[in-house]
Amino acid sequence: MSTETIEFQAEARQLMQLMIHSIYSNKDVFLRELVSNASDALDKLRLASYTDKDLDVDVSDLHVELVTDAQARTLTVRDNGIGMSREDVVGLIGTIARSGSAEMIAQLRAAKENGGDTSPEASAELIGQFGVGFYSSFMVADRVEMLTRRAGGDAGVRWESAGEGTYTVTDEPDAPQGTTITLHLKPVDAEDGLHDYADDGVVRGLVKRYSDFITWPIRMGEDTVNSRKALWSRPQSDVTAEEYTEFYRHVSHDWQDPLETIRLSAEGTFEYQALLFLPSHPPMDLFMRDARRGVQLYVRRVFIMDDCEALVPEYLRFVKGVVDAADLSLNVSREILQQDRQIQLIRKRLVKKVLSTIRTMMDADAEKYATFWDGMGRAVKEGLLSDGDNRQAILDLCSFAGTHDPEKPTALRDYVDRMPEGQDAIYYATGDSRAALEGSPHMEAFRAKGYEVLLLTDPVDEVWVDMVPEFAGTPLASIAKGDVDLGGDDLDEETKQGFDGLLTWLGETLADEVKEVRLSHRLTTSAACLVGDPGDLTPTLEKMYRAMGQ
Ligand code: ADP
Ligand code: MG
Repeated sequence: MSTETIEFQAEARQLMQLMIHSIYSNKDVFLRELVSNASDALDKLRLASYTDKDLDVDVSDLHVELVTDAQARTLTVRDNGIGMSREDVVGLIGTIARSGSAEMIAQLRAAKENGGDTSPEASAELIGQFGVGFYSSFMVADRVEMLTRRAGGDAGVRWESAGEGTYTVTDEPDAPQGTTITLHLKPVDAEDGLHDYADDGVVRGLVKRYSDFITWPIRMGEDTVNSRKALWSRPQSDVTAEEYTEFYRHVSHDWQDPLETIRLSAEGTFEYQALLFLPSHPPMDLFMRDARRGVQLYVRRVFIMDDCEALVPEYLRFVKGVVDAADLSLNVSREILQQDRQIQLIRKRLVKKVLSTIRTMMDADAEKYATFWDGMGRAVKEGLLSDGDNRQAILDLCSFAGTHDPEKPTALRDYVDRMPEGQDAIYYATGDSRAALEGSPHMEAFRAKGYEVLLLTDPVDEVWVDMVPEFAGTPLASIAKGDVDLGGDDLDEETKQGFDGLLTWLGETLADEVKEVRLSHRLTTSAACLVGDPGDLTPTLEKMYRAMGQ
């Protein structure tokens, strides 16, 4: 059979070099990545066997198998899952498509171009943040072989690489269905975190530690090494924090710890269990157009789909985890799910639970909440627009920068508690930056009065403020719109008349620019400022719309 030598895509090459030379200390995690891929491949095959009637495959003994060879110093990870065609191998292994990896490369490149930190330490930090899947095998192996055949496909393929920029692919007609990956291990170097992965005991230990919850059997010789218990169906008190963390890493592709673990379940006519996580940092694609939603759907322990958008609203797309519903068909499609009443009910409860978890965090662990809000707050605020039913609950867990304490954002309820006698609205200003807002003439009268002003600088703030009239009965009001009644002393008629000439002249001179020129109590030291009508677009929104060509 002819062997073809192919170059890795440039980004893939960079990523692999990073893996090979990084000082990422926890090299053991390569096994978690390979087992996770094998488990995904088994999920996909089982699902395909339900949905594709023409696919003639044996799914009676789906499993992962690990084989160590101390003599040859190899470790083999084998699965009889979906496998890959030649095109798959070139497209999936030779190229990086994952947004996390792409983002990581982008950050590295930016660091290089801007003279930033490209040290091995900084790279290791990046790896820890993103994880790099299959390529992590090059942390422990100086050569990787893969033999694979796509389920239903008639030819197999052998892939091989030393991670040096090229790989070879060779047709292999007799390859068994599924994927076999053989790592030719680097010498043991405990100081460098390289353990003896050709040792049975070491490998068993790693499986127990990182992959115990995998629902497929992971076999070594005659034994099944993992307990295979779905975490979400075990009593909460039985599951350790480490087990949750490893499961979180499996579902999220994140290498860090989750910030918060959430469980909920229902019994009776409509039974389901959910195990959800809040991440400790925003997923890389959080603000990209095709950001993925992180909740997987299972039906009675059978994996059905990733990114189940019917289960979580877009503004909670950073939530990761699993929902296992007992009464759905295994054949259920995304379209059917969107209409399904039971799924809608789960979604409702899930949203409430996530919101109440964040709200509780606010009181119980302010530091944790601050970490959460820093990374995910901008996404949560989108819910003020899209989720009318939960608007007040969302408002109640938001925090906003303001003039009260420049270092610390405030919750609205705290703002209201601090309102002095006579103040009857929550005042806010929207704009590009805190500095610009603080320097605005609109602020003067509020400062003089001792009224706090929220300083809203996220683009999404411009949009939601127009849709949210009040918080718990207290109106929200822009300092830059309409008649702000700050209750100053009324000017006497004579003084007012003294300004008539000036106002008329200003009104005529600026006729094309403004609707009206009037006397106001808004200002203390500035002579004039621009005020919008209550229904007007703010300057930033106007800019946004113009930029979008509207
Ligand atoms: P990720 O798992 O996050 O997609 P990886 O680098 O781990 O990223 O794997 C890249 C892709 O290669 C997978 O998405 C999958 O399509 C394919 N792949 C990897 N391992 C296997 C396997 N054992 N069987 C089938 N496909 C696999
Ligand atoms: Mg993977």
